[in-house]
Amino acid sequence: MQHQGVLQNLDPSGQAIAGMIKLFRLMKFSSLKFAATLILCASTALAQSTKTQLVILGTGTPIINPDRSGPAVAVVVNGSAYLVDFGPGVVRRAASAALKVPALTPKNLKVVFATHLHSDHTAGLSDLYLTPAVEGRPGALELYGPPGIAAMARHIQAAYVKDVDIRVHGLEHGNANAYHINAHEIHPGIVYKDANVTVTAFAVAHGTWDFSYGYRFDTADRSIVISGDTAPTQAIVTACNGCDYLVHEVYSTAWFQERTPAWQKYHSTFHTSTTELAEIATASKAKQLVLYHQLFRPKDEDICRWSADP
Ligand SMILES: [Zn+2]
Ligand SMILES: [Zn+2]
Repeated sequence: MQHQGVLQNLDPSGQAIAGMIKLFRLMKFSSLKFAATLILCASTALAQSTKTQLVILGTGTPIINPDRSGPAVAVVVNGSAYLVDFGPGVVRRAASAALKVPALTPKNLKVVFATHLHSDHTAGLSDLYLTPAVEGRPGALELYGPPGIAAMARHIQAAYVKDVDIRVHGLEHGNANAYHINAHEIHPGIVYKDANVTVTAFAVAHGTWDFSYGYRFDTADRSIVISGDTAPTQAIVTACNGCDYLVHEVYSTAWFQERTPAWQKYHSTFHTSTTELAEIATASKAKQLVLYHQLFRPKDEDICRWSADP
């Protein structure tokens, strides 16, 4: 298995991997033209890895499933972590992942990217702003996202003025520099570049949202495309174009067929079905497909749990 250990699924109960198994069933894989290899958690610690690591911190949606943290993905390169989205639970999932990937120790979380402003992707922002600062983040949180992210950051900081005042000027003697968000409103194109990674944002088709992005990460040894929330769009195929990993949202075609016309209208306008994703993954020539933001009917979730831990 060529990339073993590069991807780590650290969502509780191995739901992302289970979801992939489920997708294989739903899509009748005889028609799928590429081989998506399942990569399970490495049994040994990957501390100090110099290879790019992809860590799925959360595979959930707005649905409150205790086995799925909110959507969040980490790309780790040479000891630096870069987050895409910060759904509920992100800081604690990062702390758990740090047991195997030390770069995800929460105080190291400094550079983060929002795909869009939906609450399930951003509800962890106040936690990401404040809790790593309490634990010793040396400076501000660098936050990149679509127009509107600066206002969100400003309002969150205003909401916690009293908390920060007590932490910085009280007996904790907190570092004032850490209690700040530098918000960067970005548009499609290269939005971030350092010695480890080049990050390119591209527009996706998330219903009536005016701005919703996917991201492509290029590192020395890997290319990773993260869809964010999107209905089927050529933008994913173009951005991936043979990428090493395509991390894509998905909902169940089988469940969709049982839903009301109103919900079907919503799902088909805002999101991507298992059937559609099979076509996208094939056209993208992605070497590995990873599912997140997984929306399956409850009884399928039970099957997922059974599949992950028989
Ligand atoms: Zn979402
Ligand atoms: Zn969304």
